[in-house]
Amino acid sequence: MIKDILVIGTGISGLTFAIHLAEENPEVSMVLISKNELNEGNTRYAQGGIAVVSDFKKDSFEKHIEDTLSAGDGSCDPEVVRFVVEEGNERLQELIAWGTEFDTKKQKLDLAHEAGHSEKRIVHYKDKTGLQIQEALIEKIKTFPNIQLLERHTLVDLITDHHSKLKANRCYGAYVISQEEEKIIKITAKITVLSTGGAGSLYSHTTNPEIATGDGLGAAYRARVLMERLPYVQFHPTALKPQINGQTFLITEALRGAGGKLFNTAGERFMLKNDPRAELAPRDIVARGIQAEIQKQKEDYVWLDGSEIDLKQWKSHFPTILETCTSVGIELPKDPIPVVPAAHYFCGGIKVNSSSESNLKGLYAIGECSMTGLHGANRLASNSLLESLVFSRRAAKDVQSALKQKLPDHDFYNSIPEWDGDSYSNSSEIKSIKSLRLELQQLMTKYVGIFKTNEGLEFAENQIDKIYKKVNLIYNKHKLTYGLCELRNMVSIAYLITKQSQEITENRGVFYNHDYA
Ligand SMILES: Cc1cc2nc3c(=O)[nH]c(=O)nc-3n(C[C@H](O)[C@H](O)[C@H](O)COP(=O)(O)OP(=O)(O)OC[C@H]3O[C@@H](n4cnc5c(N)ncnc54)[C@H](O)[C@@H]3O)c2cc1C
Repeated sequence: MIKDILVIGTGISGLTFAIHLAEENPEVSMVLISKNELNEGNTRYAQGGIAVVSDFKKDSFEKHIEDTLSAGDGSCDPEVVRFVVEEGNERLQELIAWGTEFDTKKQKLDLAHEAGHSEKRIVHYKDKTGLQIQEALIEKIKTFPNIQLLERHTLVDLITDHHSKLKANRCYGAYVISQEEEKIIKITAKITVLSTGGAGSLYSHTTNPEIATGDGLGAAYRARVLMERLPYVQFHPTALKPQINGQTFLITEALRGAGGKLFNTAGERFMLKNDPRAELAPRDIVARGIQAEIQKQKEDYVWLDGSEIDLKQWKSHFPTILETCTSVGIELPKDPIPVVPAAHYFCGGIKVNSSSESNLKGLYAIGECSMTGLHGANRLASNSLLESLVFSRRAAKDVQSALKQKLPDHDFYNSIPEWDGDSYSNSSEIKSIKSLRLELQQLMTKYVGIFKTNEGLEFAENQIDKIYKKVNLIYNKHKLTYGLCELRNMVSIAYLITKQSQEITENRGVFYNHDYA
């Protein structure tokens, strides 16, 4: 298949990029692929909302900039922070024009408060903001005749100079598992966009869906694309302890914004001794506070008490949490909720410029898989959907001019070899894949998680190396399967996180090594 643009990932980043480009360039041919169904990814699970300055009487760009820089702990790129904050409101209006609904009060956007924000500025749709955005964007994307949508198509590897006769340091598309055709197909494109989201599945507890295995990062790593700040993994302080169908469920920060309080199992409101902002301190501080309590007490959770919030507010603001907690026997608002920290957001990723282009020409990375400089050492709550909105539009503008430059022709793309057609199997998963995945998750959680030590990192490095060698053996001996494809990426990214962690000698934001305390 030959296209102008290949977009890998159909969350907020990939979809808004494609809509922007298609609106102004109906002649450009695009294909969007997603690993699972179109709507599965981190976006649909976002509960809190988008941080945008929209009430200019009370709030200001300067306040949002200040809050972002403060959460990022001195590591944000101030120029990036400024343009993201300043462009946010315009991007939000586009999202609304494309059919996304947000809660309003007296005909104005209803703004919620979240940890680390000095003003109420989170636009939201109940506690299902992400789902609302994802569904509206999918409906919108289907209106463009020049966009082809392919579900259950999984990126395996990027096509680069290595697969061609050129030495242009360019990306020419990707090899992709087509579950429909039951083989690995070649999709060539003038521009390739990675919008593959995060890699929370590297850890035992994660708020991300299972498919968040860092595939875009893994493929970029094999294509020698520059990646930065991978060890800055944000753990959400409050995920529901009991899992639902094997998945960890997030309890939004907005609940603490509305008055939820944290207690250890001895009944002490421990966050008061950790930070003057207590439960509303930035995520890293709250997550470490909870993890430290868990390590001190017998039980592996703490309590989140929402009894100050009345049932009417629960029903109107937090209906999904209310329903989910009820389903596991927690009676709200009376009962406290058992919570644990869970891997939530990758602040690091593929290093990109202010137009979201990577160091490999023709390869853009947007959203959670990228490292733009916005988040620094810690992401401010609800700034990631904002980042996706701002960078997808910037990337679309840049791609528009990139397409006018002289690029390889059809003959060149035709000359790129197919993936060895016989090397994929969808029939059965290799037995050891599941256990190696579990072993990797446990290692990452114990030694490369919220708290690290130099000794632990060294141990993890050696163990990951062993897993890597086993995975390589399997890869060389067997046909590629979906599970092997994921594990190959997970082990590469685990290794990179561990190696980069060893190079960091100070504690900042979400990164914490006991040896530098
Ligand atoms: C529970 C939860 C709550 C959150 N709440 C908020 C919030 O309130 N506010 C906020 O700003 N942020 C929030 N976040 C973070 C935010 O949702 C994500 O950072 C953002 O949605 C990422 O969007 P994305 O488009 O970059 O990636 P995603 O939405 O994760 O989309 C990734 C896409 O890539 C595709 N993909 C992945 N691998 C492959 C592959 N190998 N081949 C083909 N396709 C692939 C997937 O199928 C998917 O379509 C939350 C995250 C979670 C998990």
